[in-house]
Amino acid sequence: MNDPHKNSVAQLKKVADLLKKDYKDNKKVFEKAINKLKEPDNVYETKLEIKMDDGSKKKFQAYRSQHNNARGPYKGGIRYHENVSESEVKALSTWMTWKCAVTGIPYGGGKGGIIVNPKKLSTTELEKLSRAYSVFLTDKIGPWVDVPAPDVNTTGQIMAWMVDEYQNQLSKKGLIQENPLGTFTGKPLALGGSEGREEATGLGGVMVLEKLVEKMGYKKKKDVKIAIQGFGNVGYWFAKHAFDRGYTVVSVSDSKGGVYVEKGLNPDKVLTCKREKGSVQSCINGGSAISNEDVLELDVDILVPAALENVIHKDNADKVKAKAIIEMANGPVTPEADEILSEKKVTLIPDILANSGGVTVSYFEWAQNLQGYYWSREEVVTKLQPLMEDAFARMWQMKETHIVDGRMATYMTAVKRVVDAMILRGGF
Ligand code: GLU
Repeated sequence: MNDPHKNSVAQLKKVADLLKKDYKDNKKVFEKAINKLKEPDNVYETKLEIKMDDGSKKKFQAYRSQHNNARGPYKGGIRYHENVSESEVKALSTWMTWKCAVTGIPYGGGKGGIIVNPKKLSTTELEKLSRAYSVFLTDKIGPWVDVPAPDVNTTGQIMAWMVDEYQNQLSKKGLIQENPLGTFTGKPLALGGSEGREEATGLGGVMVLEKLVEKMGYKKKKDVKIAIQGFGNVGYWFAKHAFDRGYTVVSVSDSKGGVYVEKGLNPDKVLTCKREKGSVQSCINGGSAISNEDVLELDVDILVPAALENVIHKDNADKVKAKAIIEMANGPVTPEADEILSEKKVTLIPDILANSGGVTVSYFEWAQNLQGYYWSREEVVTKLQPLMEDAFARMWQMKETHIVDGRMATYMTAVKRVVDAMILRGGF
C-alpha cells in the first residue's frame, strides 16, 4: 500500500546520501539532524464531536502535524478529505518544511486534516466542525508557533470561522493581546486576507514556467503547448496567466473530463461556460472531448498536473509525451513514475517548488497582519516574482552541479537549508 510518510522518509534518505559529502567535517551532527527530520516534532490527534442538523451526534477524526520549526513557526494547510490519515498528514507536514525552505520564507512545516467529506455536510455542520477544530488547535498555534491555512476542500470562509473561534478561546483565557489574524492565512480579503492570495499558486507556477521555457530554449511562447489537468483554483489561474502571457493552452480538464483544442483555448471563456453549463466538457467549442487520463498523454511541450495526487504512476508514466512536467498539485507523480520519467529525460519541476507561490503569499499575508499595513496586488506580485525566480535558479544550479533530476535538486537545496539552521541552533 502507498504509505505517504514512508515515502517521505525514503526520499529524505536519498537526499541525505547525496548531501552528506558537504558535511564531511560535521558528519555526526548531520546524521542526527537527518534522523530527527524523519519524524515530525509533534503529531496531535483528536475526535471532534458535533451535533448534526438531524439532532444526532457525530465524531470526526482530526490531526495536526508539526514537522520542524528550525527556520521559523510551523506553517501549512488544513485538509478536509475522506482519505486524510495520520501518515498523510505527517508526510504533508514534512513536505511543507521543504516547501518553505525552497523559497526561503521563514517557516517550518505543518499540516492538519479532518477525515470528512465536506460535500456531505450542511453549511451549519461545516461551521461547527471548523470551530471545533479551532478549539482543538487553540493552545498549539499562534503567529510565532504554528500558522494554519487552507488546503484541499478548505476555504477563506473556513479560515474566517477558525479565526473567530480562536479569538473567542483566547478571550476566555484572558489572552486578548494575541494576534488572531496573524495566526491563520488564506483568509478572505475582508478579514485580513492578502491581495493576490487567490491566484498566487497558479501565478507562482507560471513564473516558474517562464524560467523553465527559457532554459529549454523555446524562441516563441506560442510554440509552447501546455496541457493542464485540473481546473480548480490552481489549474484555472495557471491556465489564465499562461494564456495571458502568450502560451498555447491546448487542454484543460475537471473531474468530469477534459477538452482538447489544437490551436489553443481561452481559459476565461472556458470558465464562464463551465459556470453556466457545469463542466469543462460542455465547453468544447471547436475542440474535442477527452478523458482525464488522455490529458496526461497528450503530445505537448509542458504537462501540468494541477488536481490530484498519484495521477502519473508506473502504468502510465511511459505514455507521457510532454518534454517537461510542472507539478502544481501536491504529489501528482508516484516514486515509481518518477524513475521512469527521469530515464525518459522528462524535466520535472516538483510540487514543493512549482506550487510554493501559495504559501509564499501566505507569508506576505502574515507579514501584513503583523504590521497591520496592507499591500496592493502589484506589490504582492512584485515581491513574489524574485522569490520564485531565485528558487528556480538555485534548483537549476544544483541540478547542473550535482547532475541530478529536478526533484532531487530541489530537495537538496531545501534539506540543506533546514539542516544548516538545525546545526546552527544545535541542542538536539
Ligand atoms: N495548502 C497550501 C500548500 O500546500 C498552502 C499552505 C499555506 O499557505 O500555509 O502549500
